[in-house]
Amino acid sequence: MSEATPLTPTPRLRSGQALSPHRGERIQVVAVPVLEIFSTLQGEGLYAGERQIFLRFGGCNLHCDYCDTPESIPMGSGRPMRVEAILEAVDRLQAEQRHVSLSFTGGEPLLHADTLDLLISPIKARGLRIYLETNGTLPHALARIIARCDVVAMDMKLPSACGPAFWKLHEAFLRVGLGKTFVKVVVTDRTQLWEIERVVTLIAQSDPTVPLVIQPATPFNGIAPAPWESIMTWEQLARCQLRDVRIIPQLHRLWGLP
Ligand code: SF4
Repeated sequence: MSEATPLTPTPRLRSGQALSPHRGERIQVVAVPVLEIFSTLQGEGLYAGERQIFLRFGGCNLHCDYCDTPESIPMGSGRPMRVEAILEAVDRLQAEQRHVSLSFTGGEPLLHADTLDLLISPIKARGLRIYLETNGTLPHALARIIARCDVVAMDMKLPSACGPAFWKLHEAFLRVGLGKTFVKVVVTDRTQLWEIERVVTLIAQSDPTVPLVIQPATPFNGIAPAPWESIMTWEQLARCQLRDVRIIPQLHRLWGLP
């Protein structure tokens, strides 16, 4: 893959900054732990290259070996930010340049489904599509907001990287998200063939038209991507049952973006 010219990320707006309320908007007093709000290009999955506002929440219910935002894992991470302050930050970023969508990311954003519920309508009213990045383990929380989401980027977490198996939860989650969801699976040198078979079967039994993105892990901190021969084998295996299978690495790392 050829080297891309590094892009300069838009300065991040850290939580806790003083922000004035958006004119005419009803003030919400709900506060939620936020690590950062910033403008960037989506670097993963089917929408790679799309200009997005990232809203990164603190707290995650999992602990994956390859996590590239470990600071977002502790439940107390981030600083409390109120809904109106978040919307004000969104307005500032939108005033600088036009974004296609806003990505709820983390951490695990569905841990904050109450706040997502409050945020979605005003964000959509600003002309932004709703893009949800999630570990795919909280189907009940997804059910509360799925009708107003535009895209769900669902990770399927493998026991070799994340400890316990989440197959039942993933199955229930995918059922709720059908029609708006693509699945991403991060593969490392520890990934087993049976895990990929399980992912493929689970998707095929739900809906074989759901896209699957195989994402080789970015090497760091002792994490190594799966051998290329294995990735090609898994891709061919997946193609036997699924209509849309792609291999896409983390492109934002290549671009020098956060
Ligand atoms: S689910 Fe995502 S944020 Fe949570 S530990 Fe895994 S990679 Fe990190």
